[in-house]
Amino acid sequence: ELETRLDISSRDEVGSLAESINDLAAHLQRYRDSQQEFFANISHELRTPITYLEGYAKVLKNRLYETDEERDQYLGIIEQESLRLQRLVNDLFELAKMEEGRFELNPDLLEFEEIVEQAVHKMEWRAKQKGLELKLDCHGPLPRLRGDGLRMEQIVINLLDNAISYTEEGSIIVTVDTRESRLLFAVEDTGVGIPENELSLIFERFYRVEKSRSRKFGGTGLGLSIVKKLVELQGGEIYVISTPGTGSRFEVTFPFPSPVEETGGTPR
Ligand code: ADP
Repeated sequence: ELETRLDISSRDEVGSLAESINDLAAHLQRYRDSQQEFFANISHELRTPITYLEGYAKVLKNRLYETDEERDQYLGIIEQESLRLQRLVNDLFELAKMEEGRFELNPDLLEFEEIVEQAVHKMEWRAKQKGLELKLDCHGPLPRLRGDGLRMEQIVINLLDNAISYTEEGSIIVTVDTRESRLLFAVEDTGVGIPENELSLIFERFYRVEKSRSRKFGGTGLGLSIVKKLVELQGGEIYVISTPGTGSRFEVTFPFPSPVEETGGTPR
């Protein structure tokens, strides 16, 4: 709680200054609360895999298993939790860099369709494993896009990865098109969907609709907040439309570069 609320009720400049200071104080308080919550979340998220690692390492060390299969199962959990920890630390670093503005993009002129094609190709085996159809619907040729190729790929892979994780049967349709003179990239699935009142929350750090489901798929709850930041840092926007039990559609749009940029002139 901040105790520095100024109690000045005059209607002149001093009064309005006091009001601004109070607004600022309230803003700082909210910021402090959200930072505190963030750190509480981080420690919880880090502690969970560490607890598993410690527990199963002990079980193995003291040979508290009966069969080789049982032992292999525990080793599998240790491997899985180590990977989760690795992902978590990577994601946290990325987010921290983005938030502090220490994040470097290497902009280039990109053939976005190619990036999507390659990403779809990379994710095909995962879709196949789950018996899902993964289809690419590309309405090219499109103008080139200005952005960081690796980061664009990260955006695409992340959305595909989620679509596959949260879909049990049916298909995932990826579209690349133009819409209102912007590039449109969409990933539509026939998965579990997201309740309407949670749609805006899923882009927040650590937010998950269903914690256990996300955990099962190795999710950190940071993927979409990173995607959103990467999209916005490159001038884009991201939306989601979803119906629980029917599926979700994530849409990303980017502006095309102006003709000056396209011909290699000085960027803004
Ligand atoms: P996670 O690592 O948990 O997948 P994300 O930040 O990528 O974290 O996503 C946040 C939450 O949004 C997920 O836990 C899940 O509940 C929900 N979500 C994301 N993508 C989808 C999707 N395609 N279908 C249904 N729910 C989704």
